[in-house]
Amino acid sequence: MSDDKNYKKESAQVLQGINRDFEEKNTLKKAKELGLSYVNIGKTPINPDYLKIIPPDESQKARAVAFYRVGDKLRVALEDPENPETKKVLETLKSKDYKLNINLASSSGITEVIQTYQNLQIYRKTEIVESVEEKSIKTYEKEIAELASLGEKIRTVTAEEALNLINIGAMKTKASDVHYEPTDKNTVVRFRIDGVLYKVFEIKNKDYKNILNQIKYTTKMKLNISDVPQDGRYNFAYNDRKIDVRVSVIPTETVESIVCRFLDSGKEFTSFEDLGFEDKNLENMGELTKISHGMILITGPTGSGKTTTLYSLLQGFNSPEKKIITLENPIEYHLDGIVQSQINEKGDYNFASGLRSILRQDPDIVMVGEIRDIETAETSAQAALTGHAVLSTLHTNGAIESIPRLINMGMEPFVIAPALDTIIAQRLVRRICKDCGKLEPITEQEKKEFEETSKDIKIPEKVYHAQGCDKCSKTGYIGRMVIVEMVTIDEELEALILNKAPMAKLVEAARKKGFTTMKENGFKKVAEHHTTVEEVHRVIRVSEE
Ligand SMILES: [Zn+2]
Repeated sequence: MSDDKNYKKESAQVLQGINRDFEEKNTLKKAKELGLSYVNIGKTPINPDYLKIIPPDESQKARAVAFYRVGDKLRVALEDPENPETKKVLETLKSKDYKLNINLASSSGITEVIQTYQNLQIYRKTEIVESVEEKSIKTYEKEIAELASLGEKIRTVTAEEALNLINIGAMKTKASDVHYEPTDKNTVVRFRIDGVLYKVFEIKNKDYKNILNQIKYTTKMKLNISDVPQDGRYNFAYNDRKIDVRVSVIPTETVESIVCRFLDSGKEFTSFEDLGFEDKNLENMGELTKISHGMILITGPTGSGKTTTLYSLLQGFNSPEKKIITLENPIEYHLDGIVQSQINEKGDYNFASGLRSILRQDPDIVMVGEIRDIETAETSAQAALTGHAVLSTLHTNGAIESIPRLINMGMEPFVIAPALDTIIAQRLVRRICKDCGKLEPITEQEKKEFEETSKDIKIPEKVYHAQGCDKCSKTGYIGRMVIVEMVTIDEELEALILNKAPMAKLVEAARKKGFTTMKENGFKKVAEHHTTVEEVHRVIRVSEE
């Protein structure tokens, strides 16, 4: 757009704003003259349930909307109390025993409300909505036999039904997130399944807007605001479990974009074995839950499963005679017997100050969501040195790399060395779907990579390659497991840290005690037919970017 056109567009908008203000002021004046209340209805958040009280065609003709109700007291906003259609609607309401409170509103305001809420489709016959609630999950599951047909289906149902279908679809595929990504005309809906985003369907922006409004309504966001980010939550029941959904809406060039994260509060934190720890690593994890003091750090990029491992460790520590306090942002899962505290970055309750506060609560074990700054790092180390087990996460790629990282943050080696107990680095690889996966003879290339990665792994004759079937939602994989590297700081490593030894020396010392890398662990899992070479490459490459 040229500057000139831009200028014209902007001045038109300014003019419109001025006209609107003028209209509202005039309406206020008129209300005073008539002895009525005034309401700036366009700026008033309205529960759509109230809007249903006056049927849509009548609301339109009478230029009147019901916007608030307590018991039989009903507030109505209208444009002209002398309009015969308006009078008719008011009489009907009175005959239904409503006690009316009349508010004068501007013509533009009334139009805005009618238009905004029309998109919600709340005006559809209520019987449809009721029948939705009666529908069992089983029926839905049948309806989403083919996920790809969801887009087709969504065009023919109410927004409320559409959201139900998407929720069940997400549960059925065990998706962790649903992304709505609007472009010029269409909105792409993608599900994150086992850490990877898949396009599920595409709908017209017109249909998407109905779902957007439904989500905003369900999460109690402001429906009439679309130019600032909003956050909210809603929940639903699925197979007797309560599913929490965390929703984030952000403005884009076209329509707002939504990301919904599905948190299964009934999720059990399974054993370390089920997470994918085995052999020496599994043994080490068991030992870790017995320590009385020292720091345990879990490292890896976002989405590498750090939180799950952290929670499983907490579960391992958890016993009635121990006091466990966590500092989290946000609290993702609720654990019985543990005091969980939510930090507030905007307020003064951040990780560093929060940690100082919770240490005054006499805990045995503390979990700090993330170490991002020197203050949190030092307070955590102090806590570890004064008899607490401290669990936290750090954004580094490898386990041993965390040592130079902490030094770079500004920590003194003489604080790090005695405070650190164990560092774990991990990624999540997807488990191969054995219903469709193909077991094929190992190629020369693959064999070479096995040899280069480790001498300790027995090279398999065959390895799996992913295909895709109905059971795995055509992804070729089902579920995930960790690939991991762990280092425990013993006296020798402690001495090396104190002397600021280079990485190579640290790795060498750790190797002597049986340290193996994440890649080695990944290839071992390929050899054991749990996953594929491609998958190990994917997660290790992602983290190196
Ligand atoms: Zn499959």
